[in-house]
Amino acid sequence: MFVIKRLNYVSSIVLFLVLAAFSAPAFADIDQPDYQKTHYPGFTVSGKAYDKIQTEEFTMDCAVNNIIISVDAQVAEKAMFKGYIRFQYTHSGKWTSYLAFDGEYHFSSVNTVSAYQMMFVVTDPEKGDTRLNAVTVNGNYIPEEAMEYYMQKPLPFQPQKVVARPAIVSRAAWGARPPKNAYTQHQVQRLIVHHSWIPNQSQYKGAASIRGIQSYHMDDPQTSWTDIGYHFLIGPEGTIYEGRPETVVGAHCSPNTNSVGICLIGDYDPNKDPIPPVMEQSLLNLLSWLASKYNVDPRVNLYGHCDFSTKSCPGKNVYDRLPQYKEEILKAIGENK
Ligand SMILES: [Zn+2]
Repeated sequence: MFVIKRLNYVSSIVLFLVLAAFSAPAFADIDQPDYQKTHYPGFTVSGKAYDKIQTEEFTMDCAVNNIIISVDAQVAEKAMFKGYIRFQYTHSGKWTSYLAFDGEYHFSSVNTVSAYQMMFVVTDPEKGDTRLNAVTVNGNYIPEEAMEYYMQKPLPFQPQKVVARPAIVSRAAWGARPPKNAYTQHQVQRLIVHHSWIPNQSQYKGAASIRGIQSYHMDDPQTSWTDIGYHFLIGPEGTIYEGRPETVVGAHCSPNTNSVGICLIGDYDPNKDPIPPVMEQSLLNLLSWLASKYNVDPRVNLYGHCDFSTKSCPGKNVYDRLPQYKEEILKAIGENK
């Protein structure tokens, strides 16, 4: 009896290890938030044309200047759901006015904030069922100088030609889940390259890995974002996958507003994965298309994540090649002076 139990125990460990080895690991190389809290306001509107809830004021245990708010709500078909948030500045103690948002909201400021208060409003002529499940607040502190630099509008740049959009695997084709809620629109001004770190190249399993990263970004309590954080992802074999539309704010490098995040699947830290030429070509095609379409000067506004973070992302093997990429993109798109 004991032997059988023991065998079952051993075989279940073996089975677990086998399953762990075959399920696509997906952690991706993201910044850990300095402040993180998930709220469950318990706000349900049913059989009513209008209702609202105002939360208490929440004090953060650290001062931050970049915040992502992700709302998880089931909204009745004809209902209008609006969120509002206001922040209290750390030094002056003054509150901002209430800022409106639909689903995911990005707040950036040179001055830090250290408290917030939220309000949610439902207007529903059909008196259906709307339910606010959770609100996740992620805050980061970005040094003031970097924040000032980041919030500047880039100098005008006019490319000579628009490079064709490369072949991109659509969300439907890789089996993406729909976003939980509305995105925030932005203007493309910067291109930022990342690596996934995990999965590395040998752990990459095509579309399953992209779905794994999306689930991690949407379901992990540390993130709980409305969708996959990146705008594009590229597999080691050169396949480009569609993430969020590039015209909306992503979640990949704080502050995210106005930047497009591209994730190279693999671990490009020293002595880890080399970047294959076919993958590099896909990256160049994608960057050239984006730079030419949105008038982004690759010499100034192409970055690695590590330019804004203490992470090594996108890894030295890729980061060291950025100067060469900048030249090649400029050659591909030209400049009207
Ligand atoms: Zn990164």
